[in-house]
Amino acid sequence: MKIAPITLNNIYHKRNIENNHTDYSQYRVPVLNSNLQDKFVPSFSGSFINLHKSTFRNYAQNRHIGCIYCNRHMFTNKERDSICKTFKDQPSAVFTTLMGSFFDYFDEAGIELLNKMDNMSMSYPKAKINKILQALSPDSEDRLIDLQKQTFGEIINLKKLLPESSRSELERLIQNSYDCINGKAFIQDYSAKEFNYQLKRLSESLNKPQTTAYVNNMADLLTHPIYKAENTPLNNKIMSNVLRTTKSPHYNIDLTSNNAKEKVQLFIINKIKKAAENENNTTIINLCDITKKRLLGQPAYSKFSNKAFTYKLNEILGNSSSTDEIKEIFNNICNKLPKSSNSIDAFIVKNKDATNMAIINNLLDQYMVTIEHIVPSSKEGANDISNWALACKKCNGIHGSSDIKTNYPFDREAPQEYFNIIIDDCNNKNFFNPKDIIKMADNFYKITDIKVDLSKLKVD
Ligand SMILES: [Zn+2]
Repeated sequence: MKIAPITLNNIYHKRNIENNHTDYSQYRVPVLNSNLQDKFVPSFSGSFINLHKSTFRNYAQNRHIGCIYCNRHMFTNKERDSICKTFKDQPSAVFTTLMGSFFDYFDEAGIELLNKMDNMSMSYPKAKINKILQALSPDSEDRLIDLQKQTFGEIINLKKLLPESSRSELERLIQNSYDCINGKAFIQDYSAKEFNYQLKRLSESLNKPQTTAYVNNMADLLTHPIYKAENTPLNNKIMSNVLRTTKSPHYNIDLTSNNAKEKVQLFIINKIKKAAENENNTTIINLCDITKKRLLGQPAYSKFSNKAFTYKLNEILGNSSSTDEIKEIFNNICNKLPKSSNSIDAFIVKNKDATNMAIINNLLDQYMVTIEHIVPSSKEGANDISNWALACKKCNGIHGSSDIKTNYPFDREAPQEYFNIIIDDCNNKNFFNPKDIIKMADNFYKITDIKVDLSKLKVD
């Protein structure tokens, strides 16, 4: 793996000639932000004592070093942002053609998905990425729904494990979920906690950190116990907090009216929606619309979401004071629901209405570089270079907190290749302190039982 500066424009032209594809020359292909073409230049010298995580992450830039576990190249945040921005308004055909030069970043599933998109793009060369996913989704949707129904069936078969009082709640969840995947609107109780949970996950997709903080604070307001307490009226303290947090000069609600609490909650949800509208964030706008309908007791259609389903299921399990064992049985089945990170069909269905930027973001997500603590912090691993390794998000997730010494789930050759690059850079460019590398290898051995060969490392 060597530094290979990427000049996408060149690759684009080369592929065009080689492939004899649809003629894309009618499209103006922008050159990626010049940052992406910078070579990796360490912004530190000599001692590594003050090395920041972000600087170390950039070490993966431009294919310089691969994942310690799978050896594949990884995208840095800067590279991802640059790709997102470049393809923001481009047709899918241009995107997939150019992605051909990044095939060595993707695993089999990623390549299969890109190939599917590329094939479809040839028929619709001007279509945006979501239109291509929409064209691919009928088959995907059918397969996905089959698997989801199968899982729901398995869950409902377990209802006897729950006390009688919770069974109807489970039946309702399953019925609502069937409606969800069949595209039917349904009535569901409004839950401030659930809204808060969903919004906080989505709010990270907002562009400005201030907006994220602003909507999250407003969502917290909604979880105040006063809204559930039937006999406690709203008071001035609550309302001045609402005004302050929502940054509103006034409200137009008669606090003595019967449905005053409902109106205040709608007032807050509308403020959240407004903030999302300012950023054109359709996912949050939709969530607000659905939540408003739930609050008013009206039927609403919502997309099926694994996370929301798991959340609701665990709420039911918690209310029924199920044992940890029973919770585990249910959650193991829940885990079988196809996710967009492990199922192409789920990815296609999830993203078919998303913008180019969101789709590209989701597509690259698993291949992003992350800092892996070789010895986990829970086992008192240090938080410095001697205990850091670079791993793709996917491998980092697989590693998690599980014991990889007895059951190593990765390529056993990858770590040596990873260390070879670090040794090379240390010998030639003084990028690293040899002592740190010895410690890195030592930590890695402690956790994985894999001994890397450091004989080429020059130690003075
Ligand atoms: Zn990896």
